[in-house]
Amino acid sequence: MAANPLPTRIDNNPDPRLRQVCEPITKFDDRLAALAQRMIELMRQGNGVGLAGPQIGVCRRIFVSNPTGEPADSLVFVNPELVDLTGSVEAEEGCLSLPDIRVVMRRARRCRIRARHVTGEPFEMEAENLLARIWQHETDHLDGRLIIDRMNPTDRIANRKKIAELEAAYARTARRKKPLTA
Ligand code: ZN
Repeated sequence: MAANPLPTRIDNNPDPRLRQVCEPITKFDDRLAALAQRMIELMRQGNGVGLAGPQIGVCRRIFVSNPTGEPADSLVFVNPELVDLTGSVEAEEGCLSLPDIRVVMRRARRCRIRARHVTGEPFEMEAENLLARIWQHETDHLDGRLIIDRMNPTDRIANRKKIAELEAAYARTARRKKPLTA
């Protein structure tokens, strides 16, 4: 795949690519390493703590996380799998594909993750609280799930207008992208 340029922007809801179940990555090459690097850059530019493939139009099982913003804390997870989810805690979450929207989500407090590095080498890690929450949020993205799928009634009302605005903005962009048929 020589010609395909790297993604340059984050897609917003309701882009249908955010709703696909992503395929595992099978090729661990330079291009994958470059993609991971680009994802870390886009996460940082957006002041996010995580970013998943489908958010940049790449329907593959890859995400990056960084709970602190310190470059050394950026991690890449390829073909991740969450195991040993324990505990339960509620906290507010945002999403780079849902600007200005906040949703209270109940998540496991602690979990382990099995994944591969961009080199293909397998590894395992354990986290709790914020990092465990990021991993669960990003893994949801890989299965086409978003935080607006699980809003409580209060959040549903609070976010209604913002979601409608995103839908209208997406509809405008989709119209512009239509090829000329004249
Ligand atoms: Zn997200």
